[in-house]
Amino acid sequence: MAPKHKAAKKSAGKPSALAQALDALRPAYTGRILTSDHTDYETTRTVFLGDVDRRPAVILRPAGTADVARGIALARDTGLPLAIRSGGHSGAGHSTTDGGIVLDLRDMKALDIDVSNRTAWAETGLTAAEVTGALSEHGLAIGFGDTGTVGIGGITLGGGVGFLVRKHGLTIDNLLAAEVVPADGSILHVDAANHPDLFWALRGGGGNFGVVTRFQYRLHELPSIVGGFLFLPATPETVARIMAAAAAAPEELSTIANVMSAPPMPFLPEELHGSIILMAMMVYAGDAEAGEKALAPFRALGTPLADMLRPMAYAEMFPPEEGEYRPLAVSHTMFIEKVDGDDAATMLKFLNESDAPLRAVQLRALGGAYARVPADATAYAHRDARIMVNVAAFYEGPADRPAKAAWVKDLAAALHQGDDRAYVNFINDEGAARTRAAYPPAHWERLAAIKAEYDPDNLFRLNQNVPPEKL
Ligand SMILES: Cc1cc2nc3c(=O)[nH]c(=O)nc-3n(C[C@H](O)[C@H](O)[C@H](O)COP(=O)(O)OP(=O)(O)OC[C@H]3O[C@@H](n4cnc5c(N)ncnc54)[C@H](O)[C@@H]3O)c2cc1C
Repeated sequence: MAPKHKAAKKSAGKPSALAQALDALRPAYTGRILTSDHTDYETTRTVFLGDVDRRPAVILRPAGTADVARGIALARDTGLPLAIRSGGHSGAGHSTTDGGIVLDLRDMKALDIDVSNRTAWAETGLTAAEVTGALSEHGLAIGFGDTGTVGIGGITLGGGVGFLVRKHGLTIDNLLAAEVVPADGSILHVDAANHPDLFWALRGGGGNFGVVTRFQYRLHELPSIVGGFLFLPATPETVARIMAAAAAAPEELSTIANVMSAPPMPFLPEELHGSIILMAMMVYAGDAEAGEKALAPFRALGTPLADMLRPMAYAEMFPPEEGEYRPLAVSHTMFIEKVDGDDAATMLKFLNESDAPLRAVQLRALGGAYARVPADATAYAHRDARIMVNVAAFYEGPADRPAKAAWVKDLAAALHQGDDRAYVNFINDEGAARTRAAYPPAHWERLAAIKAEYDPDNLFRLNQNVPPEKL
């Protein structure tokens, strides 16, 4: 299908053509332009995943929305592939490209908090931890995911499931507006009244429709939480019971239970390192007394190996991360209805048999505010799903990858309960059918029609791609 693509017909990739186009770009462009001879090129081209190693022809680091529009024009004019990068955590490696253009938003970090109206405009170079930390100073919060270094660009556009999901829904359920630069380079204010179809598509449809330069979020008062980590022995009973307790808990409480090989954390006895444990990441978004009450049944599931649940500021859920962490990992995402003793025993069997340096089944309890949003209200549709699962294994090099990928596939198949849907932000580079699995047919058709309006030539195609209708 590539020849049908208008941009692909041009003389893509000729260095001289790019050099000329960059010369034409420079006078108006206020951000940074990095080619391979630049001292910051090597560090800037790096993304989170350890097995993604690509060399873009040019990395543009725009200083603002006008620069973003100029970068999009450069891609249109040269025909080079265009990757959009916010926090660089794409599991599919979509935020970089060999020989193409990367529009890297990391220098766009303006954050304008309106404390009295409890809203904020945030530029998309910000990370989840940066926004959360700044909001925390005002006792305000919005939920992103479980990892502070993830960019707000990617996580918001896919949905955003994290520590406040049961109390306040997905990140997109708190999205009020966005500034978007679609393929034609115009600058759009998008909200429920302006470009409502595009506003719908942005809430779960990923990076298909243009570059979002900033989001406006609704914020919630959250002066403190009770939360942190609870480590328990992993038995079929504790694993099944924690998910039952998480579903039955007040919706202030969101739980992510990881059945996993114990990392060498200093507060875990050394003899446990590498053995299979249950690590719950929990947030009670409310006052301390009610939080302690809600957490009591979890502490009673077994004698905790370590109990690190405590009253804290929400921002403490994202501790500063040191050094460069670029894992080699394979994973599979899916939804399941329930975890009973047999399901839990299956997980433990596989986890105990694997020799992966780190292996995990991550179970996220959904429900609450997440489930009250009608399935057709946003491009993200899986509102009736009860538990989001990620099966993951780290591997040690290319030779080790197939065995770990097979393990992930087999365990995911053993846990499958008939639901083939998937959360778009956790899908890796898995082919078109898996992208389709992120959307029901009617959602897919609507997304394809909206794509045709805002990106008819599929300029934004390095993503979980929804091709424009009729392309
Ligand atoms: C360690 C880790 C933990 C995670 N935990 C969670 C979690 O708890 N909850 C959750 O929901 N997800 C989670 N994710 C998944 C995460 O939400 C996605 O990988 C997301 O796409 C990453 O966003 P990013 O901006 O960092 O990535 P990037 O790689 O920069 O961007 C990913 C894609 O998003 C699009 N995009 C990004 N910014 C823009 C923009 N401004 N305009 C247009 N398109 C854009 C582009 O298509 C881009 O290819 C996690 C991922 C990792 C690696």
